[in-house]
Amino acid sequence: MSLDNKPVYTGGCQCGAIRFRVEGTLGDASICHCRMCQKAFGNFFAPLTSVRGTDFEWTRGEPKRFQSSNHVKRGFCANCGTPLTYEAPDGTALAIGAFDEPEELAPTLQWGIEDKLPYVDDLSKLPGYTSDSDAESVEFLKTMVSYQHPDHDTEQWPPSGSRGEAGE
Ligand SMILES: [Zn+2]
Ligand SMILES: [Zn+2]
Repeated sequence: MSLDNKPVYTGGCQCGAIRFRVEGTLGDASICHCRMCQKAFGNFFAPLTSVRGTDFEWTRGEPKRFQSSNHVKRGFCANCGTPLTYEAPDGTALAIGAFDEPEELAPTLQWGIEDKLPYVDDLSKLPGYTSDSDAESVEFLKTMVSYQHPDHDTEQWPPSGSRGEAGE
């Protein structure tokens, strides 16, 4: 929350070269199934939330943009590739997964369902396992050092003297 009681959200790309801050009420969180969003996110669909009407700023770096159509630009980190924005004439939307607390941004509607991939509705029915349920991946995870930016703002990144923040 900000001083005048507006919600505040932060986030950024995986490597931390780009960070953003939003103050105010976000628009509807959605997923878009259109083929353009599938490609732009390298994913089954694009999870996005509009920042129209909020106080939005890039607090570190700024995305590189790809003009995906005459109307729309897609912003992404040129350093690590994280998809970050959908920028249309009527406003910008941010990738939900890039927020520090994506669990707060539950999608409430779907767009482009004519392009929905046929298996998407059944994803939640697939067998599921935790990362530690496979002995080989336990060893792998034990020795893993993450270079991913943590889910909060940092004064300096990467921290001086190391490439990453151990344990994140
Ligand atoms: Zn990055
Ligand atoms: Zn789309």
